[in-house]
Amino acid sequence: MPKVFHAPVGDRTRTRRAAVSPPVSSAGACCADQPLPAIPARVAAAPAVDPRDDAPLRVLTLGTAAGPVVWRGRTGISTAIVVEGVSYLVDAGIGAIERYRQQGLRWEDLRHILITHLHSDHYLELPHALLVPWELPGESYQDTLSIWGPGSVDLALPHHAAPGQPVFPARVENPGAPLPGITEVVHGILGSAFQTDLNIRYVDENHADIRELIRTNDIFLPREAGANLATRRCPPMDPFPVFEDDRVRVTATLVDHRYCFPAFAYRFDTEYGSVVCSGDTRPNGNLLKLAHGVDLLLHEAIHLDHLVRELKPEPGLMDGLLANWEERHTLHSAVGKVAAEAGVANLVLSHLAPAHTDLISDDEWLEFVRRDFRGDSAVGHDRGEIRLVSRPGTRKSLVVR
Ligand SMILES: [Zn+2]
Ligand SMILES: [Zn+2]
Repeated sequence: MPKVFHAPVGDRTRTRRAAVSPPVSSAGACCADQPLPAIPARVAAAPAVDPRDDAPLRVLTLGTAAGPVVWRGRTGISTAIVVEGVSYLVDAGIGAIERYRQQGLRWEDLRHILITHLHSDHYLELPHALLVPWELPGESYQDTLSIWGPGSVDLALPHHAAPGQPVFPARVENPGAPLPGITEVVHGILGSAFQTDLNIRYVDENHADIRELIRTNDIFLPREAGANLATRRCPPMDPFPVFEDDRVRVTATLVDHRYCFPAFAYRFDTEYGSVVCSGDTRPNGNLLKLAHGVDLLLHEAIHLDHLVRELKPEPGLMDGLLANWEERHTLHSAVGKVAAEAGVANLVLSHLAPAHTDLISDDEWLEFVRRDFRGDSAVGHDRGEIRLVSRPGTRKSLVVR
């Protein structure tokens, strides 16, 4: 069972673990001290380590594209970090779950899904992840599946973008609670979007209660970070713990993704090496702290020249959009500096925009990286696999398949 870190008593800005079972309106009613439910007997135990694979730490780039866009050659962002056979999925973009299975990973080894932020391209596959294993006879999660992600934000969104950037009409869905968190997302999937399917299958197929198999875990920022959407989107802060179990220790930090707040980067420390997933962010000091000295940094990159040519924004919006994109992402020409400044051993680009594989070669993506960063670097591709190999007297180096 995962160990959940406890924030100071009475602190609203805590890491919270909440069961899915209560209704949406009671979000927050469950506390981190509540034990996980018993594992249903129908779920058979499976060996934790796949005997076909001897690498204790594998990083699989299931999907490497940015944005809720259909690109040529890449699908939605998702990374599986597999430690001694147990899978920790970071983000679940378009196609992630299909690729999870296509790369030989098993449902019963999937224990945690961590969503970096609530832009749709990072969790469009969450319904797939929750429902499909539950619906398949003989296949399911071995243990409770924990879903981690940003908690709800109480503040209203600013009415328009900053000066010099495009001003959009202030359309707000559900103004009373415009920025729900991961618990509300999962409740929405189970509680309304797929309620008919669930109820029919309970009657038709006698399934186990899906809510007993899934846990949601809202991640709130430590109060001392002093961050807020309106005026302090990304103040300097130390990384904070999310959870640990017998294989990994997961920490997070707040990164700067403009109005998509909060957005997190996650770090996994294991006996076999350490990995950071940047999430979506412009270069910032919090990420540098989190990634300091890490064995492998998976980092997003945006190539503005190609993106503008591909998406062809209206002329009046061009300047504003360029500033907007640059303000919430990391340019391909800057990501090498980030890796160098953080002192990471290896860098792999993932979450690329534009993501057509026939548009930008790996060499073009890495042109500036190779100039600024002396470690091993590579461009992530869908269905790719990264391994870290130790050589005596040197830092871990990169093998990309
Ligand atoms: Zn994204
Ligand atoms: Zn995003």
